[in-house]
Amino acid sequence: MNNSVYIGRFAPTPSGYLHFGSLVAALASYLDARAVGGRWLVRMEDLDPPREMLGAQAAIMTSLENYGFEWDGEWIRQSERHEHYQHVLEQLFSQGLAYACTCSRKQLEPHNGIYPGFCRNLGKPLDDAAIRLRVPELEYHFTDRVQGEFRQHLGQEVGDMVIRRRDGLYAYQLAVVLDDAWQGITDVVRGADLLDSTPRQLYLQELLGFAQPRYLHVPLIVQPDGHKLGKSYRSPPLKADQATPMLLRALRTLGQATPDDAADASPQALLKWAIPYWDSSLIPRRLTLAESELR
Ligand code: GLU
Ligand code: ZN
Repeated sequence: MNNSVYIGRFAPTPSGYLHFGSLVAALASYLDARAVGGRWLVRMEDLDPPREMLGAQAAIMTSLENYGFEWDGEWIRQSERHEHYQHVLEQLFSQGLAYACTCSRKQLEPHNGIYPGFCRNLGKPLDDAAIRLRVPELEYHFTDRVQGEFRQHLGQEVGDMVIRRRDGLYAYQLAVVLDDAWQGITDVVRGADLLDSTPRQLYLQELLGFAQPRYLHVPLIVQPDGHKLGKSYRSPPLKADQATPMLLRALRTLGQATPDDAADASPQALLKWAIPYWDSSLIPRRLTLAESELR
């Protein structure tokens, strides 16, 4: 991979402060890029103003700085990209690949999150409707660099997906695919909670003629019995004066080497130290909460 271009990114959502889980994702994407001399971009995924926390964008960028991260170029916001999303959306709609849906939450409730296709062939107008992309009755699969083979049948397991909500907000799945392609992202390194979004993104990439990036999903934190950790588990916001110990813990969580005498190192020095030692083959697939706290 040494001679090829590498462009990675960290794409936080400003619905809250960065926490340990986001640090692990940021660190993995940063080291994976820098270890091959690649570029590393930051993209603020501010698609959902009602869920945005006041001051979160600035706090996230300050945390990244305090933790020693250096991004390339100016960081961007998805809120500046609406025109582009709208353009693609209208194209998909006019080609009949997407359609308007006015189903209520109540109508969809019995279907366990899999869209039953009620509006698929009704030719409804765009106004006051969600827009759904038709998905093919096909299984999509990819090989994640850490999680291995992952497959999902889009028709059976997801159903036609919302790309613009009824309230006019653009969906993450659409924005992330358009922006990764526009920014030339070659490698997506992010949290394992997004593993099961990836097949939808593969389909959108295929539809729009984009290259498929490589994927690395950092370990899932699970309960000792192997069950996924509930959403109720939230680690606290990252503290500025804890940068070095938290970075050390994040390195251990990722299975990476740490220097012997790091306690007094600056976060910048620690990151610099870690770059040549980065070895993605050491990343564990999953960790229990207790393991991740011990590390
Ligand atoms: N904005 C997403 C999040 O904060 C990450 C999106 C991505 O990395 O694809 O969970
Ligand atoms: Zn519908």
